[in-house]
Amino acid sequence: MTRTQQLEKLQKQINGKWDIIVIGGGATGLGVALDAFTRSYKTILLEKSDFASGTSSRSTKLVHGGVRYLAQMDLLLVIEALKERGIMLRNAPHLTSNQEFIIPVYTWFDAFFYTAGLTFYSILSGRLGLGPSYFIGRRKVIERLPNIRQEGLKGGIVYHDGQFDDSRMAVSLAKAIADNGGTLLNYFEVKGLVKNEEGKVKGVKAVDKLSGTEYELYAELVVNATGVFADDILRMDKPDAQRIIRPSQGVHLVLDKSFLQGESALMIPKTDDGRVLFAIPWHGKTVVGTTDTPLEKINEEPVALDEEIDFILRNAGKYLVKVPGRKDILSVFAGLRPLASDPGNPHATKEISRRHKIILSESGLLTITGGKWTTYRCMAEETIDAAIKAGLLEKRKCVTKTFRIDSVPRKSASERLKIYGKGAFEIEKMMTDKPDTAHQISENLPYTKAEIIWICRNEMPVTLEDMLSRRTRMLILDARAAEKCAPAVAEIMAAEFGYGKVWVEEEVEKFRRMAKTYICT
Ligand SMILES: Cc1cc2nc3c(=O)[nH]c(=O)nc-3n(C[C@H](O)[C@H](O)[C@H](O)COP(=O)(O)OP(=O)(O)OC[C@H]3O[C@@H](n4cnc5c(N)ncnc54)[C@H](O)[C@@H]3O)c2cc1C
Repeated sequence: MTRTQQLEKLQKQINGKWDIIVIGGGATGLGVALDAFTRSYKTILLEKSDFASGTSSRSTKLVHGGVRYLAQMDLLLVIEALKERGIMLRNAPHLTSNQEFIIPVYTWFDAFFYTAGLTFYSILSGRLGLGPSYFIGRRKVIERLPNIRQEGLKGGIVYHDGQFDDSRMAVSLAKAIADNGGTLLNYFEVKGLVKNEEGKVKGVKAVDKLSGTEYELYAELVVNATGVFADDILRMDKPDAQRIIRPSQGVHLVLDKSFLQGESALMIPKTDDGRVLFAIPWHGKTVVGTTDTPLEKINEEPVALDEEIDFILRNAGKYLVKVPGRKDILSVFAGLRPLASDPGNPHATKEISRRHKIILSESGLLTITGGKWTTYRCMAEETIDAAIKAGLLEKRKCVTKTFRIDSVPRKSASERLKIYGKGAFEIEKMMTDKPDTAHQISENLPYTKAEIIWICRNEMPVTLEDMLSRRTRMLILDARAAEKCAPAVAEIMAAEFGYGKVWVEEEVEKFRRMAKTYICT
């Protein structure tokens, strides 16, 4: 998958009509494009920045039914998500795994309450379950969570959910679309809608942000899958449209593995403000979060607030013997939930249902918003089905339930490289043929030169940030280490793409400015 190939496909179709144009290359847009493409609709996806550069690279990295929605008795949401959890683990085995969670309990009432609740949770997952939920005694909790606060600890409840790598999943979806003949472009922004004489949306005006070339593209259906930016597209359709998105910010801290130890994740069902707190092992570090802060303004690069960082540290510190402080934070990242609000109660983001919403405008513009990464597949299925029902597309059956996004390499491939799916073999071969490419780029992170080269050739990165933040996860795993190896990575990219010194310097400078917001002082 290269951008040049994708532009060539666009040029071939330039005077023709697409069946579907998808605006937005996050989880939702990529899911819709994959669903549409695998039903053989001629589909193009346009993303104004990089794939998953919005919310979809900033999640808690869980493929989950949502234990907290169970507490809110939103059973339909939980059942749907549990089913999709199973499908996602089956269809993307290279990027997902079964994760054991433990809820530590300090009263016998909690022991009973959470054992009952989580047993119900595992029953609800049915055939696609990941393992039973059960109570374990204090000694076993300490064995599995060595850093847990032991004072008053009665025991813990074990349950299972899925875990994944969000931005790599997005890139994998993009690659599955492109490698099978679909078309998608990053750094390609939709600036307006094209309408016919009856006021029906029949295409988009878009600009290639790298060349500045402007395009008018036509389609039977335009899907607005722009997450927290959905209102901007709705206002291109109807300038006085009421805003429906109430963004809510969620922050995560990345800490060293020693703050959790072991392989189990920690789950606290009720923090100070009634939220759930997770501490999860991920790519050799510990990810802790999250917050839920209603925002008025949408920032393309959301930044964690001091009070959010303090909130997470304070709550994590209540349950961990080795208490994390600001100096221990390797990286901090923030994301915006695209919640579609109830106009009567616009500020209560915790109460807004997390279920997705599909809105068909009078003009035929179809908007899909809300939901979760876990449910991206069924959201896409429902979106295309809604277009069929509205007579915007001819009827074709959804096939993504069994569509393998990529496969896990055979045992010979390194466990760590399986995130590249079948590409793991090519990376290993490069390392064998040219041993200098097997060298680690950073002393703190395991990525090699071979991975950077392979990504340049296969995964459509454009900027240094694409490489350090979303193709590899260096920025999120250790922002200072990412900053340090930025020049070396930029040199490799420049050599691959044929760029000069000026590109390297500009990219490094731009990346360093951005990386500062991931570093806590
Ligand atoms: C803190 C947090 C934690 C979460 N944790 C989990 C979790 O553990 N598990 C889970 O299942 N879900 C989780 N979620 C939810 C999940 O991450 C989101 O539901 C999902 O990523 C939303 O994807 P999206 O595609 O709708 O939005 P986005 O990822 O924001 O994608 C929208 C895209 O549209 C593009 N765009 C906007 N305007 C234009 C335009 N004019 N032209 C072209 N492109 C445009 C943007 O650049 C962006 O890339 C979490 C969310 C948050 C905020």
